[in-house]
Amino acid sequence: MDLVTTHKSARRELVSNLSKKMASVFPRSIMGLLRHIGRLANRYGYSAFVVGGPVRDLILGVRNLDLDIVIEGDAIAFGRRLSEELKVSLIVHRRFGTATIIAKDKLKIDLATARKEIYEAPGALPTVEFSSLKNDLIRRDFTINAMAVSLNKESFGQLVDFFGGESDLFAGRIRVMHNGSFIDDPTRIFRAIRFEQRFGFAIDRHTEKLILNAIEEDMFDHVEPQRIRDEIISILKEKEPIRALRRMAELDEFKFLHPKIRLDQKMNKFYSAIDEACLWYESLTFKKRPIEKWLMYLMANLEPLSYKETVDLCSKFVFKRGERLRILSYKKCARKAIGLLSVKKKIRPSRIYSILSPLSYEVILSLMARSNSGLAGTRIKDFLERHNRVRIGIRGWTLKRLGLKPGPDFKKILGKVLYKKIDGALKTKSDELEYVKGLIRKRCMEIA
Ligand code: ATP
Repeated sequence: MDLVTTHKSARRELVSNLSKKMASVFPRSIMGLLRHIGRLANRYGYSAFVVGGPVRDLILGVRNLDLDIVIEGDAIAFGRRLSEELKVSLIVHRRFGTATIIAKDKLKIDLATARKEIYEAPGALPTVEFSSLKNDLIRRDFTINAMAVSLNKESFGQLVDFFGGESDLFAGRIRVMHNGSFIDDPTRIFRAIRFEQRFGFAIDRHTEKLILNAIEEDMFDHVEPQRIRDEIISILKEKEPIRALRRMAELDEFKFLHPKIRLDQKMNKFYSAIDEACLWYESLTFKKRPIEKWLMYLMANLEPLSYKETVDLCSKFVFKRGERLRILSYKKCARKAIGLLSVKKKIRPSRIYSILSPLSYEVILSLMARSNSGLAGTRIKDFLERHNRVRIGIRGWTLKRLGLKPGPDFKKILGKVLYKKIDGALKTKSDELEYVKGLIRKRCMEIA
């Protein structure tokens, strides 16, 4: 059953007070914290609300501990008091009128001041306090993301839904708040697709028309490329990014990244191979380096681009240094490395080590996904499972004891020992010592 069906059937059970649902979705510590926030708000004469994504997810029964709280009042003063009472740290962002509480287990809770401007809603009856919350919510992207839950004592758990977000959620509908939404912020187009595909929803017809209009008018030309980059990264971090990418292709959105990027059969296959490679990697039982899978998907998307075009794209979208280095190292080495790893004749494991060890795990696993030859895949697996884990027993000080002076030769000698061990020629530490002594003798003879 998909999310829409689940929540349609849950509809009858839902009451406008979500406190029970909150208790079932949030851990007890979070519930305690939220109640504390509510009591403190009462003492200050403020109103406090959980807003946005966590409310959407709460109604869907999905746990989201990324809590955003809007305070009708001074959020910074409120945050200060809260951090004193809870004895937890606080980061203040004065420029934005926001503060972040760092609670236990590194849990972060963002506190923001609701916009103060009076919002004149036509015929609106909400109380004065609610009018500033409404003002805050109306600026949001979609109705399903524009709901709030009250935390104050007398109304704890009360859903605040000015724009029909709850019924859109039950209908599985992504709907903008107003016609100018994508003109105000075209990155919402990516967000619409992301939520649509994540939840198995559908973008509402009028909203889709607004998207097509914005795309036709090349609205992305007016957006900072970094903001587009962030939305693309968010899409690639989704559980099944390929679904959102298919939708992007349908709406002709890749052209805003690069005209050469397309989602064809080859790319589909590449994506599945990345999933497979990552699944294999995750199944390894020893302690592994965490990998950024989204970066591997991106490397796949950039496959049709030349090196120069990839460099330009990385600069245009201002990818971070570490990301750029991995993207470009893949671009630079992929063809040659796969060629070398696919040769039929026997290759020494140390040779494979010398090709793969300078590369990041994202690059190595992408090579594994990209190579069609089973041979290259097996060699990469051998490298990750065995050869990259080989350690030698001797150290720099062992060489010193043998009378060598510290210098660049140390690294060379230790490297030679490692390669010999990887190739299976040295087993024990005394084998290593004997081998080094042999190297020293040979060198003395060469000098003499
Ligand atoms: P996710 O589960 O992906 O984190 P989220 O809705 O919590 O989803 P965020 O990017 O953290 O996503 O945004 C938090 C909230 O801020 C959203 O729910 C929405 O109300 C608002 N928001 C975020 N981006 C925009 C935007 N571009 N325009 C308007 N409102 C936005």
